[in-house]
Amino acid sequence: MNKTELLTFLNHIGARPKKGLSQNFLIDQHILHKIVQLADVGSQDFILEVGPGPGALTQQLLKTGAHVVAVEKDALFAEHLMRLQTADQRLEVVSADFLKWRLPQSSHKWKVVANLPYNITTPILEKICMHANCFHSITIMVQKEVADRICAKPKTKAFGSLTLFLQFYMRYIDSFLVLPHCFFPAPTVDSTVLRLDMRAPPAVDPVPLFQIIHKTYQQRRKMIATTLRPSFPNIVKVLTDSNISPMARPEELSLNDWIRLFDVLVLKHA
Ligand code: SAM
Repeated sequence: MNKTELLTFLNHIGARPKKGLSQNFLIDQHILHKIVQLADVGSQDFILEVGPGPGALTQQLLKTGAHVVAVEKDALFAEHLMRLQTADQRLEVVSADFLKWRLPQSSHKWKVVANLPYNITTPILEKICMHANCFHSITIMVQKEVADRICAKPKTKAFGSLTLFLQFYMRYIDSFLVLPHCFFPAPTVDSTVLRLDMRAPPAVDPVPLFQIIHKTYQQRRKMIATTLRPSFPNIVKVLTDSNISPMARPEELSLNDWIRLFDVLVLKHA
């Protein structure tokens, strides 16, 4: 769908892009093609698309022969896509808020392929992580700044609890940049398409681990020892025993450092 086709379509169904639903539609065929290529979609795949909108990416996905479940919150777009569903048995359109939608039980793993609504990127990623064993990979368009945070290295400004949370469940495969003119309406920010594959998560309970990580990141300029001392009076010894500087600040610790620290802190000193 190029810009003229999109405008004709929006006019035809009486829709206007809604800012509140982050409706910035892709109008660049080359980018649509590159997303499907990066996601490595084939006819045996089961795809979950969050926010299909007018369906440009959906149609590109269907061309591969894959099965596609497309979850759209905007009832007007969902209604239109249901017409496509009648013509193509491999498409299932769900008119729902993805964040409230119950993931269907199935024997296959999903590949998520989506140009995400940017205003709810983090809750969408959290939901996917909470059901990590249902997914094979995610190939998603996000704000470049969010992609930079996801891929950040320790001791950089972008590195944070979101980086650690996603690294717990996924590993980075590849990415490419998408400029604002590839969308209508053009967003004010650059975008990145990112592919992450699910990995076997570390053998640690993520709930208490991330409670501790979040607590320290709430005061990211403070030393970990200062933030955690009220709950763990022996924190300086634990840091030393874990081969971590007692002066360390949260962004200096990689996921492996946190897991090592957690192991000593909670399991051996319980
Ligand atoms: N896939 C289309 C494309 O690439 O042109 C549209 C992408 S647009 C950035 C985001 C889409 O997500 C919109 O169609 C919007 O209505 C939809 N959306 C927003 N919030 C949603 C939610 N909570 N659940 C499902 N879809 C949502």
